[in-house]
Amino acid sequence: MKLKNFSLDLTQWYLKHKRNLPWRSTRDPYRIWVSEIMLQQTTVATVIDYYERWIKIFPTVHDLAKAPLPKILKTWQGLGYYNRAKNLHRSARILIKDHQGTLPRDPQIIRTLPGFGPYTTGSVLSIAYDLPLTIIDANVRRVAMRLLALKGAADTKQDGKINEFLLKVLPAEKTGDFNQALMELGALVCRNKQPLCLGCPVNKYCLAHKEGKQEIIPSPKKKVLKEIDAVIAILEKKGKYFIQKRPSQGLLADLWEFPGGKIEAGESHQEALVRELKEELNIEPRSFKYLFSVRHFYTQFKVNLLVYACALKNEPLSDATHRWVAFKDLSQYPMPSGSAKIIEKL
Ligand code: SF4
Repeated sequence: MKLKNFSLDLTQWYLKHKRNLPWRSTRDPYRIWVSEIMLQQTTVATVIDYYERWIKIFPTVHDLAKAPLPKILKTWQGLGYYNRAKNLHRSARILIKDHQGTLPRDPQIIRTLPGFGPYTTGSVLSIAYDLPLTIIDANVRRVAMRLLALKGAADTKQDGKINEFLLKVLPAEKTGDFNQALMELGALVCRNKQPLCLGCPVNKYCLAHKEGKQEIIPSPKKKVLKEIDAVIAILEKKGKYFIQKRPSQGLLADLWEFPGGKIEAGESHQEALVRELKEELNIEPRSFKYLFSVRHFYTQFKVNLLVYACALKNEPLSDATHRWVAFKDLSQYPMPSGSAKIIEKL
């Protein structure tokens, strides 16, 4: 494939057609970093409001570093993958302590900060400082696989060949625009389904287009979402509701939720509630009343939360991680989206 002018054609198209997004009007490395972290695993349309709210609450790396973690998790609530928010916070504190509050330009140093893998390092440093670093995300992978007519599914096994290609076409200057142009092309033109090849600024370089294979490259991945049923116990006392904090490690760490858990094979809902309340809180229910169910999707599985009001024989203990909270105050606690949906329905 002749690649002369590839990056020029692509970047010129980007500068003319790029979407007007709030993080594109800044060169502030902190703001670019926040947007890049939010955009991982989350759509642009969802990120816009979160980004604007975040920047209002934490306009600088100093504001982020000195904020308490619950405030950070509350601001992040609904975006999912809460480790991203915790890593932003931890990295902000390191930047204040060791780097005068600025993001270092050296990729080796950046990689030592929490939350900086190869993709984030390349995207933040190329966009903020125009450093000549390649990046591969899902959009770039799909675009490059089509340009090169690579066979197979879009997974990291393709990245060696893709990176070789990117190193050939990466311009010496304005790398940030070039990297964003590739991602924007994937989002707007070289879409997952029905790519718009006729209006594509790089169609003359594209082997998949030439061979008429753009609809079958990459080959589709089979994805079956695992389904989990869980029971949730609503414990109420004089208008207050019982919530507990999840452990600091693992899925949804440090978030608050109602008691309950996964229904084991062969268990009835009632049996699962009795077991969970005993295991988690050492309490025994007197009666149950089914209220409603809530469905929530995670990347790897979907969960059906079956919500029951429970009357108790004995009360759970309150401490720093187990609290009775007035209904109007529940929204102040950072919670997983499934629990937030339950509060809405309550
Ligand atoms: S020509 Fe079609 S398949 Fe090739 S990069 Fe452009 S949109 Fe994608």
